Amino acid sequence: MTLKGIIKSKETGTCVKCSTIKSIDVAKNWYYVSCKCNNKVQEYGEDSNDLDAKYLYNCEICRYVEDVITKYYLVLRVSDESEAEAKFLFFNEVASKLLKKHSTKLTMEVLHFITQ
Ligand SMILES: [Zn+2]
Repeated sequence: MTLKGIIKSKETGTCVKCSTIKSIDVAKNWYYVSCKCNNKVQEYGEDSNDLDAKYLYNCEICRYVEDVITKYYLVLRVSDESEAEAKFLFFNEVASKLLKKHSTKLTMEVLHFITQ
């Protein structure tokens, strides 16, 4: 079945389809910050003008945390021979396998590149 057929299908199910990655959707961040308990965290004090302030994060379960990890939230635009396009969301485990790199390592490389 083509991607167009999958999009138009009214059946629920699982399928495997080889498609071509056309681009990475960069409208949103490709990662999110997570607490070590795997809950998403919010930056605490991001409105602060104090650049020396140590950023803390707010976890709904652990409350205020400093030790966080980044996880992939990668949106890929794919297409196939039917020329239909679709977005696929890849969370951390799948995106790590696709990119062959842990999200924390890629985040550190990007931060290093930006601060050069
Ligand atoms: Zn937590």
